[in-house]
Amino acid sequence: MRFTRLCSLVLFASLFAACGESDPADVSTDGGSLPSEADEAREAAFLDSSGAVTGTAFVDGSGEARAVLRLATRLGEVELGESGVGLGPRAVLALVATRAGDDGREGTADDLRFRRLSELDAVPYIGPRSWALLLARAEAEGLVAKLDPCGRGAPRDGLAGLPGDVVDAAPDVRRVVATDRLEVWARAGSAPSADQLEAFRARSCDAFQFDLDTLEREPDEPALVVMPIRVVVLDDAAYGRATGAPGTYGVTFGATASEGDAFVVPVGALRDLAELDDTLAHELAHVFQFRLAPFDAEIPWYFMEGTAIALGSTFGKARHGYATGFVTGWMRTATGEDARLTFRRYGLEDLTQNLSEVGHDQAVSGFFVEFLRAKLVTPAGTGVPQIQARLMETMEAVSAGESLAAAFAQHTGGASLSAAQEAFIGHLDATVGDWSRRAEGTIFSE
Ligand SMILES: [Zn+2]
Repeated sequence: MRFTRLCSLVLFASLFAACGESDPADVSTDGGSLPSEADEAREAAFLDSSGAVTGTAFVDGSGEARAVLRLATRLGEVELGESGVGLGPRAVLALVATRAGDDGREGTADDLRFRRLSELDAVPYIGPRSWALLLARAEAEGLVAKLDPCGRGAPRDGLAGLPGDVVDAAPDVRRVVATDRLEVWARAGSAPSADQLEAFRARSCDAFQFDLDTLEREPDEPALVVMPIRVVVLDDAAYGRATGAPGTYGVTFGATASEGDAFVVPVGALRDLAELDDTLAHELAHVFQFRLAPFDAEIPWYFMEGTAIALGSTFGKARHGYATGFVTGWMRTATGEDARLTFRRYGLEDLTQNLSEVGHDQAVSGFFVEFLRAKLVTPAGTGVPQIQARLMETMEAVSAGESLAAAFAQHTGGASLSAAQEAFIGHLDATVGDWSRRAEGTIFSE
């Protein structure tokens, strides 16, 4: 594999942006064509005002939520009905009508998938009783545990070990907090406190869920189940030895024939939780890349790092209200020539010579990804929705042997990669000295 490690450089002063984004719901809830003489009550909401299932702690992203949403999306009418899950006929009709989309037929391109509890809750006749029935079915099938991204089973043994560089730098490293899906490792000799370890576990879990959903992946995909996600927390000295990149905030090692993948963070990252969250989402993006697109020789660095940078900054903004990381500082002064430089220097080979060049190229790359999402004009319109998911698919296709240009066009609504690069260069040249116009619509906007 060409890349054995990827750095997150959160070394540079970050400037601030404000305001969260809102995701439009992607499920229509038009149940207006249903019969009106209901013998089932139009059930009350099953969600409370905080977004949790009433009387529980189940929220979007939990194994419970994912399992119920999957059943509501995938089960057929008969399985949903009285002889299966036990939903009443009107609830079944309303569910099927909702997910069939505008054309009213399932199995067509406009079919909808329930991604959020609020989308399911908005379906007529679906309420607390339906929730309970669907959850009971999900639990009976073992689906709740299977779809909990951070796991709830016992740690697994007999798996490939940590990357050799990590073990060499910290021979006393061992697994300290673990489920079947997420492991935190630390040194016996200089172990972080229980609170610190829990902070890394919980924050890694949240970041993993964010990446999973942003990339539109399922937690039970084989590539994600094959090994637990591994977080290695090291003291600064061991971190520097293990990664060869002292002073950076995180490094991800891909798997080899004999070693598992892992990402390494220094315990000192707890000093700035916003930047830590950015780093975790960033490094986990690399874990996805390594696992889903392992043959990466034809995938440019500006995409591998650009998507990770944008994911990290987006997660940071969602959690803390401003775009974390170091993109803004670089991009306020960049011109089109900076983009040309990065496309050349951070292409299929990483030709950067020092951390400053890496910072520059990662910032430009991350901004390019946001440009594609918010501003690129394609045959399908302005901006490529869910660009992170589309670029992950592009990388997978390239890993499987497709050309980058063809895969990019296929997954972005017909956009030309070279034209997109030219458009980005042109956008930077046209917005020199006008940050608000340059950043407008991106997560880096203030
Ligand atoms: Zn990176």
